[in-house]
Amino acid sequence: MHYSLFGEKLSARSGILELMKDLGEALESPGKVRMLGGGNPAHLPEVNALWRRRMTEILANRDEFEHMVADYDSPRGKAAFLSEVAALLRREYGWEIGPENVAITNGSQSAFFYLFNMLAGAHADGGFRRILCPVVPEYIGYADQGAEPGMFRGAVPQIEELGPHGFKYRVDFDSLEVDEQTGAICVSRPTNPTGNVLTDTEVKHLASIAEQHGIPLLVDNAYGMPFPGIIFTDAAPVWRPNIVLSMSLSKLGLPSVRTGIVVADAEIVERLSGVNAVISLANGSLGQVLTRPLFEDGSILTLAKDVIRPFYRTRAERAQAAVSRAFGSDIDYAVHLCEGSIFLWIWFRSLSISTRELYARLKERGVIVVPGEYFFFGLEEDWPHSRQCIRVNYCHDEQAFRDGIEIIGEEARRAQGGRG
Ligand code: PLP
Repeated sequence: MHYSLFGEKLSARSGILELMKDLGEALESPGKVRMLGGGNPAHLPEVNALWRRRMTEILANRDEFEHMVADYDSPRGKAAFLSEVAALLRREYGWEIGPENVAITNGSQSAFFYLFNMLAGAHADGGFRRILCPVVPEYIGYADQGAEPGMFRGAVPQIEELGPHGFKYRVDFDSLEVDEQTGAICVSRPTNPTGNVLTDTEVKHLASIAEQHGIPLLVDNAYGMPFPGIIFTDAAPVWRPNIVLSMSLSKLGLPSVRTGIVVADAEIVERLSGVNAVISLANGSLGQVLTRPLFEDGSILTLAKDVIRPFYRTRAERAQAAVSRAFGSDIDYAVHLCEGSIFLWIWFRSLSISTRELYARLKERGVIVVPGEYFFFGLEEDWPHSRQCIRVNYCHDEQAFRDGIEIIGEEARRAQGGRG
């Protein structure tokens, strides 16, 4: 079989594929594997009960179920849903947006595929533009999304050390290079994998730099405010006409309904829905129909604030306590300041092996983590730090998490350049 360059590139063994396969295998063999790897959000009984109730209402309402499953949605999303989303964000944050600024996609993952390939790669003027990630490590799911090779450029951040076992990445504005080959700047906030939340000042600064260059700033708000609200700082979402803000229903507890929500300048929204029509024809309606009343009455805000955020905040605190208990003082490690997301990002400074090797040893012992290497894409120079970090998901079974962390501690000690 002969595959095209596009086919080769997108179907090659990618980090995201490995991650999703591990996740699938772990779900099929519950109990055998301590799954600290995937990006699945937690099942919160109160939240699941809400979706069940909504489904019952939809089934009971005359024709609502039939419209939901038996009609194609428009490529931009349901008009009523777009209006509710715009109205909620206008009420909450005073943004001057209307339904023309909102587009729905089949998951925000698809939105990024469209956006990256719309804004980067070969251009009609003969130029080749790239997506700049100003803080790498960045979300593994972007790394293989370019239809052409070399579409990402990553920038090494500053590392602020916070005591013996903590640190935080900060945008290194002094060495950030934005030029005519930059098609867009992109950050996830809160960041997957690190739990970092760029400050409002950092975001505004990035937006101004992007504006000076006539390019958009893509902000991936999959974990942020106002929903799902898995963010533990006061950072507010920022939107301006040159910011493309992506949101998702996934971490609200609906990963399987595949609903991404993009807020952007009307021209980008129009083009995005054009791409959506070509690739997907239409969006799945389920997520929009399930959640529309929550946007209408604002209860999506209280759900995020009163149910989702406290759950993850408590879990994140307990997970960090479990790490410090298990690792003690003889492992040379630091955990990234956990300001949001469903992960802890752990840096082993004195590891004598790569974290890919550590991942393999842990998998042998029934613990799945994600090795950090995959998250460092687009860098021009080798950075040893990229082989010293792992991502763990803290939001599932707590006993499995504690057991997994114990085993990670044992393997890290063993692999610690003779120090442990
Ligand atoms: N962006 C980030 C930062 C993510 O972590 C994820 C999923 O884990 C996505 C985007 C994609 O989410 P979805 O396609 O489910 O909306």
